[in-house]
Amino acid sequence: MSVTPEPAARRVAVITGASSGIGEATARALASAGLSVVLLARRADRIQALAGQLDDSAFAIQADVTDPDSLSAAATRVESEMGGADVLVNNAGIMLLAPFNPAQHADHRRMIETNLLGAMNATEVFLDQLRAKRGDLVNLSSVAGRTARPGNAVYAATKWGMNGWSESLRQELHPDVRVMVIEPGAVATELTDHITHPETKQAAEQMYEQMAITAGDIAEIIAFAVTRPRRVTINEILIRPTAQP
Ligand code: NDP
Repeated sequence: MSVTPEPAARRVAVITGASSGIGEATARALASAGLSVVLLARRADRIQALAGQLDDSAFAIQADVTDPDSLSAAATRVESEMGGADVLVNNAGIMLLAPFNPAQHADHRRMIETNLLGAMNATEVFLDQLRAKRGDLVNLSSVAGRTARPGNAVYAATKWGMNGWSESLRQELHPDVRVMVIEPGAVATELTDHITHPETKQAAEQMYEQMAITAGDIAEIIAFAVTRPRRVTINEILIRPTAQP
């Protein structure tokens, strides 16, 4: 008797910060690679519009990574409606560059709350699902997680923190969960729009205009990493524009 195998279930990828830039491009790339995507961000209109452009299995859930209750509600929906997450992309982030100064106190707290604690919040609520499904955890760090320079002290602290946390998790979670760290250089997105220190904003925008690569360049690499055979883990990828010193 011949038995027709059941078609393999589609993997489900949850992407934080999917409303613009690298998160949006990653959602598109993962959907093209055949995954079902769940789009998380605060701007509900943006993620709903994006879900509408992708296939029927894509859906949007408004969530703020600094609000653990909104993430828990999202995780409950992903579990009940999609059977759990196979991939979590911790992408939500802000880069409020400025010389270290007490005047930037609020920006410092926001970066740590979003980039570092936000990623931890999301991982806490999806960790059981990733373990159960032998999934992938993709953390968006930065070149700023490997080097530091004047003017990016707290942003670099969040990304160095991301790298240390990710390496520890890699060792704790393997072989159940593959942990991957992506470290882009300058990428043209909305990231520099939110810088509050005028001189730094102008300098960053000039630098980005000269050399930034596209969000799609990064998304392609994330899609490649999470679609490798299970025996392979790409743990860390540093990607600079060719023109970036
Ligand atoms: P964008 O500003 O285009 O995207 C940032 C995303 O994060 C948005 O979708 C935003 O959505 C989301 N976000 C911000 N705060 C929160 C929050 N509290 N809760 C949920 N979502 C939030 O920038 P990028 O695409 O460039 O940034 C994505 C990641 O890539 C960041 O972690 C950044 O540090 C990293 N990166 C970027 C580089 C670059 O040069 N662009 C270089 C290296 C790393 P919303 O406002 O709708 O909530």
